[in-house]
Amino acid sequence: MNDRIHRFGFDTLQIHAGSRPDPATGARQTPIYQTTAYVFRDSEHAAALFNLQEVGYIYSRLTNPTVAVLQERIATLEGGVGAVCCSSGHAAQIMALFPLMTPGCNVVVSTRLYGGSVTQFSRTFNRFGWSAKFIDFDDLEAIKAAIDKDTRAVFCESIANPGGYITDLPAVANIADNAEIPLIVDNTSATPYLCRPFEHGASLVVHSMTKYLTGNGTVTGGVVVDSGKFDWSASDKFPSLSKPEPAYHGLKFHETFGPLAFIFHGIAVGLRDLGMTLNPQAAHYTLLGIETLSLRMQKHVENAMAVAEWLESHPQIKAVTYAGLKSSPYNHRAGTVCPKGAGALLTATLKGGYDSCVKLVDNLELFSHVANLGDTRSLIIHSASTTHRQLSPEQQVAAGAAPDVVRISIGIEDPDDIISDLDQALKKAAT
Ligand SMILES: *Cc1c(COP(=O)(O)O)cnc(C)c1O
Repeated sequence: MNDRIHRFGFDTLQIHAGSRPDPATGARQTPIYQTTAYVFRDSEHAAALFNLQEVGYIYSRLTNPTVAVLQERIATLEGGVGAVCCSSGHAAQIMALFPLMTPGCNVVVSTRLYGGSVTQFSRTFNRFGWSAKFIDFDDLEAIKAAIDKDTRAVFCESIANPGGYITDLPAVANIADNAEIPLIVDNTSATPYLCRPFEHGASLVVHSMTKYLTGNGTVTGGVVVDSGKFDWSASDKFPSLSKPEPAYHGLKFHETFGPLAFIFHGIAVGLRDLGMTLNPQAAHYTLLGIETLSLRMQKHVENAMAVAEWLESHPQIKAVTYAGLKSSPYNHRAGTVCPKGAGALLTATLKGGYDSCVKLVDNLELFSHVANLGDTRSLIIHSASTTHRQLSPEQQVAAGAAPDVVRISIGIEDPDDIISDLDQALKKAAT
């Protein structure tokens, strides 16, 4: 099975990759190993595990069999060599950067990021002595110019939340490559079904599993996936991986583990010391979600396309941003970066402004007004009156959260029902 696994198609891998019948009971579904610790065979076995000479289970802050299945499944779907699951998408972003950064280092990041990521990168990273340079990623020269001797990574989203923007991944990967630093792609909005960043030259992928991977709004989780292709020893920029790591009794991770260096470091040092561990119950829900990922994403994309087209021709709507629409300036990139569809997030600008947006949100019945996305249910939020309320009007516009804009995450309900709910609420929003 293991030799054949890489020849299977996506629909097969999303069900089978990483899982095998439970060796103790034959259980077909992956059991939830709800245990903190694992009994060592003897002292020699314990010593070998702690020396990383033998791979096995010690303590669930580091590794857990249920979480391990999820890690292998996501790594396989992304085409990577390994993955580390974390307690949230934001935890995954810190875990991705942690082995690369030291105080004084910076990351070059796209301005088009999930709102929470903007805050994390611009405020909280400073407390670690890290910094972020925010750049318009359509301006390739500006990305090149921003990279300096202290830059340790380039970071962007494949399909950028809140929708309508697709990053030119091959061009950005090329710039990172020339600078001998990894490109990290947040692939949350696309999922590996719609976009596989490693095929476009990315070195690391992060996800908020909270969204489409779990798919039904039950879990908070994240994951970092490694392509295994980045050469950590090509320069002296990544001493935690290429030189003796003082945090792990001087072990040289790259020399010892080759393409798995980043993953071993993420577990042995990252999870051990930062403790942003995913719990096995959450891993179970995400594993269940991933079994139907391709089916859900096809339906999400189909529905989003239908809703975007309907909204675009609606007399109360000024503009719709969705890269699946022919009118989108990013439509041409969809074919190469996410050929199976541009995701299911979009924004709509209402001619009636702030008041109409509030009335629309308040009158929708099928849609839920929530600060989440990537659920089977259709969701909506008026960012200016909620998540982006504290920002100045200029900052709101820059963040794609102008007062006359609503963000919509299209679910997998019947498209006619989604559209008729929007129709009745828009009528009420007109008065
Ligand atoms: C939600 C989200 C995050 C943060 O993930 P959490 O699981 O909420 O911590 C990061 N990036 C994107 C694109 C997201 O949508």
